[in-house]
Amino acid sequence: MQKIKGKKICGGINEGIIRVFSDKDCESDLKTNNDSGAEIERFFAAKSRAKKICDDLYDKAASNDLKEAAEVVLAQKTILDDEEFDKAVTGMIEKDKIPAERAVSLIRDEFCELFKKSDDEKLIARSYDVYEISDILTEVLSEDNETKEEADKDEKIIIASKNLSTSLIIKTGKENIAGLVSESDGKNSHAAIIAGSLGIPTITGCNINELSALDESKAIIDAYEGELIIEPDEETINGIIEKMTERGNGMSNEDQIDLKDCSHLKILANIGSVADIDNALSSGAEGVGLFRTEFIFMDTYDYPTLEEQYEKYKEAAEKMNGRELIIRTADIGGDKKVPYMTMLSEGNPALGLKGIRRSLSEPEMFKTQLKAILMASASGKISIMFPMITSVNEVTKAKGNLEEVKEELRSEKISFDENIRVGVMIETPAAVMIADELAKEVDFFSVGTNDLTQYTLAADRCNAEVDDYYDPHHPAIIKMLKAVAEAGKRNGIKTGICGELGSDISMIKTFSDMGYDSVSVSLAKLPVITGALKGR
Ligand code: PEP
Ligand code: MG
Repeated sequence: MQKIKGKKICGGINEGIIRVFSDKDCESDLKTNNDSGAEIERFFAAKSRAKKICDDLYDKAASNDLKEAAEVVLAQKTILDDEEFDKAVTGMIEKDKIPAERAVSLIRDEFCELFKKSDDEKLIARSYDVYEISDILTEVLSEDNETKEEADKDEKIIIASKNLSTSLIIKTGKENIAGLVSESDGKNSHAAIIAGSLGIPTITGCNINELSALDESKAIIDAYEGELIIEPDEETINGIIEKMTERGNGMSNEDQIDLKDCSHLKILANIGSVADIDNALSSGAEGVGLFRTEFIFMDTYDYPTLEEQYEKYKEAAEKMNGRELIIRTADIGGDKKVPYMTMLSEGNPALGLKGIRRSLSEPEMFKTQLKAILMASASGKISIMFPMITSVNEVTKAKGNLEEVKEELRSEKISFDENIRVGVMIETPAAVMIADELAKEVDFFSVGTNDLTQYTLAADRCNAEVDDYYDPHHPAIIKMLKAVAEAGKRNGIKTGICGELGSDISMIKTFSDMGYDSVSVSLAKLPVITGALKGR
């Protein structure tokens, strides 16, 4: 038995066979080329072939219910039309007289280095896309179509690769994946986000050379602990089974009796796309407590139009079939950057123009989104929620914008829900302290424990160096949660929790006792929570 330590990206435990997908580091035997013109031609031909591969991956993802992954492939494909990239590669082929595959991998490293150095999370995420698309290109150029055998249907695999890869997730198929292990951090990569939404246990920071020696070994991935256990012995397997039981794959009798008292607590889902709704409902969600609409803004190359947004919110409302859908207005800024928006370089982006502050600073964008949400409210039970609130003033301004849009719709004779409910996220210590005043302005609160933890404990949620300080169970957070529930009760409004702490099965009873009306949980944790609360 051997253990490899890494960093947890998406929790979960699974067993499978390690399959190593080596990095296309293009150690081409050919160090020089004799004909740069021919190499450039080969490069452009490979680009066409790579585009076709992207189209095939897109089709495969779309037909396998991997809509988010399909969108990522489309975004990655645009890199193949990037003139800067082409210029850099062809320039290097000519100047250094090297083969096309070598130029692609050198330029890939140059671009990725540059992106990774930026403090812009979106650019950092883009660097992983450049990596993936370059891998496809070098694969084509070196005619390395050594695709690993298709996974045996009964055999789940743990994908080990240098970078987390969207295309490997698509190619393997989510039902065949037991976990993901990679060397580079990549927590901001699209592949990590997809792994999170599919609930695939994922760890990073494992040496790929060490993993290469373990190709085809049996292993358990324990992403809660951030470790890979190779050829586990019986004692370890029993320990893991016990841990899975504790984590909700089978609650003890005592826990079940306790949870029976939580009958009033609604279990809602956190979603990042319309497609997530099917997953949420089939896992037993009673509604959607948080639709993170910033993803709609992040995965486009320009502001999404009124029509584009309306179509999405309407489709979402219809899919909910009468259940509540809480749409959060775009929470842009901080770790959620949008390339086409003017974003000044901020020393402390988490404390900068983020959430409602950005929406209020871009009234056209804000009102377009509000209008699309209002229009969709004619098709279902939609509520609106504002993120990152720190003052009553922000709420009255946001509601002022909403009223203006309502007036516009009335004069255009477009129907919408006149009684649409408005809520705010409680995710700053300031919002907790003025909860009574805020409650007078809104219909509900939803506590964002992810940001509340970061702002209360002064621990960056994206900085692994301060992971130990970022503790959502800290007594300060628990006291704040109690205070918010009490303020909600005092003022007769509903309260919920939509941060990750809401998915902590061990806390459900506490939240219920505090008086919360709902918890909204990630798709990955939803089956565990709804399973544990079944038969309340
Ligand atoms: C939170 O901060 O807890 C939250 C739910 O919002 P996000 O994670 O999208 O910032
Ligand atoms: Mg937040």
